[in-house]
Amino acid sequence: MINEQLVNPRSIAVIGGSNNIQKPGGKVLKNLIDGKFPGQIYVMNPKEDEVQGIECHKEASTLPEVDLAIIAIAAKHTLPVVETLTQEKNTRAFIILSAGYSEESEEGAELEQKIVDEVNKVNGALIGPNCIGILNSNHHSVFTKPIPELDADGVDFISGSGATAVFILEACIPKGIKFSSVYSVGNSAQMGVEEVLKHMDENFNPAKDSKVKLLYIENISKPQMLLKHASSLIRKGCRIAAVKAGGSTAGSRAASSHTGALASSDAAVDALFRKAGIVRCYGREDLVSVAGVFMHPELKDKNIAIITHAGGPAVMLTDVLSNNGMEIPPIEGEKADKLKEQLFPGSSVANPIDFLATGTAEQLGTIIDAVDQDFDHIDGMVVIFGTPGLFPIFDAYRVLDQKMKTASKPIFPVLPSTHTAKDEVQEFLQQGNVNFPDEVNLGKALSRVYFTPEPAPKEVPLPAIDKTAIRRIVDKSGAGYLNPEDVQALLDAAGINRAGEAVTTIRQQAVEKAYQLGYPLVMKVVGPVHKSDVGGVALDVKDAETVKREFDRMMQIKDTTGILMQPMLTGTELFAGAKYESGFGHMVLCGIGGIFIEVLRDVQNALAPVSEEEAQNMIKRLKSYKLIQGVRGEGGVNEKMFAETISRLSALLTEAPEIRELDLNPLLGTQKHVTAVDARIRIEK
Ligand code: ADP
Ligand code: MG
Repeated sequence: MINEQLVNPRSIAVIGGSNNIQKPGGKVLKNLIDGKFPGQIYVMNPKEDEVQGIECHKEASTLPEVDLAIIAIAAKHTLPVVETLTQEKNTRAFIILSAGYSEESEEGAELEQKIVDEVNKVNGALIGPNCIGILNSNHHSVFTKPIPELDADGVDFISGSGATAVFILEACIPKGIKFSSVYSVGNSAQMGVEEVLKHMDENFNPAKDSKVKLLYIENISKPQMLLKHASSLIRKGCRIAAVKAGGSTAGSRAASSHTGALASSDAAVDALFRKAGIVRCYGREDLVSVAGVFMHPELKDKNIAIITHAGGPAVMLTDVLSNNGMEIPPIEGEKADKLKEQLFPGSSVANPIDFLATGTAEQLGTIIDAVDQDFDHIDGMVVIFGTPGLFPIFDAYRVLDQKMKTASKPIFPVLPSTHTAKDEVQEFLQQGNVNFPDEVNLGKALSRVYFTPEPAPKEVPLPAIDKTAIRRIVDKSGAGYLNPEDVQALLDAAGINRAGEAVTTIRQQAVEKAYQLGYPLVMKVVGPVHKSDVGGVALDVKDAETVKREFDRMMQIKDTTGILMQPMLTGTELFAGAKYESGFGHMVLCGIGGIFIEVLRDVQNALAPVSEEEAQNMIKRLKSYKLIQGVRGEGGVNEKMFAETISRLSALLTEAPEIRELDLNPLLGTQKHVTAVDARIRIEK
């Protein structure tokens, strides 16, 4: 676990420290020295007497006591050194840079585990192996470049990949993003991204710690840990963005139900991020842009003013913002006219505010002041200001910098001339600012951040259900698909409305039950999983003759053990379901039946538990939401009832975690009722 010796060591030993700074052992030592590590640095290298001016120990046993060891020697030599350090040198923190462990072979994995066990014995911290190291304002224990500017208010960055960490730093630095810490976790032998985040959460000090966390994750091995600590940090005022790579690979596995096929593991990642309030990013530049947005005050609402002296970028930004749900509202009226009078003729203040290529620094200041103070319906502004290279633009950027520090509304700067005006941009960044060189990247990031929901509350309210009955049914059932009686009983116990049903194996009984249920009705085979596919559903059965005929026909269908009868209902076909995703827990899904799920894949998901409120948000996010509201004279669906059904389904899962797949497909919905007419539940024990 992360400890003081790792974060703020008094002394560091570089094991395998070298004079060759083209090797990790040489470069990490150089970075430590260049980074002016204030404590003691020791070096161990059996082949040298002195390394980079530091006296060298031939073996670990002659080293003095040391807090942190950075290990850059071959895997096979590592364990004895770690043992000596933990047992004799009171070393409680380790960064293993070398590769050759679990990422390479079985043998390597065993060795890695032995090292973890040894470090755990003394309650120590281990980062890596197979990583670039860690970096904070106390010590630069990485063997790579670049070293970013370190600042307590910069971002905390945790990466599951060393090389990607380097490239993300590379992308961040020229835009002015500073760092509070960088952790490259490599093989995550003892600590992965999740554990580092947990540490940050459990030790969070709002007065001292950075409030922005960036993550690069390839493998979420502990989804629940990530969810818990990410949402907790966000509730404490932090903002978190993450790239989760590796989502596309055969995402939707073959599964026996709709829900199974629709609920890919990447969808689970989306659901987890949404529940935690993490902003999901899809690449380096994307992550950098979101980090930049995080470095600015939060937008109170979605109304943006665009201020520019160049038309094109303003048009592109307008497009991307409005396509992503943000507003660029008109600016008009007396105050707008007054502002216009202070600009050159031909300028426009309608929004985008275009003060022409000849616009001055002073005019920029006037515009920002007006937007900040006179136009209450604007929540934030983007200033796009570059140069065609005719004269320097220091004055404009100085005005911008000063306004950014004093304005009450957030100002996002787009300074595109990073080559021609590089000195000006550099000066602007040195004032502690961040630049967004590309307005479209900014626009996407801004809207994504704005529309990322708050983390779910700690205690999710769920409807009351008959827990005893649920446990009784699940406990007595074997694994596999439940029979129709048990499915009915479970839905009843969960308070999920379903069609009245009767099941029979006897022809004459079918006729009697049909009479009791009333015509028109629906007959279905019991046994086959996909009933329509085998001709096992007869709709709109109107009389006893048809009941008999269909009974005889259906009983011949392969695997059929009986016939189920229901009243024929009307309504919009809806869908709700759940699927268990290993590690994540249950994913709850909803959508509109028919082509909307089959063809358009218009499905929304959420990680259980899902409150009625969250279910309502899922429904609203459906692309075909208008159908639920009702279009072209169609009555629509009772949204609240649909949401309640989804939340009841989630409550059922909480009581019966053995449920691996659950399908209510379809539910038929009108303004008066939402009723399940087909349900499948598969459990695993
Ligand atoms: P399966 O999904 O196994 O093919 P269903 O029970 O879902 O079987 O029936 C197939 C289709 O028949 C449903 O999607 C729905 O359109 C229609 N249907 C089924 N039961 C009813 C019912 N009680 N009232 C109206 N239509 C129904
Ligand atoms: Mg069905």
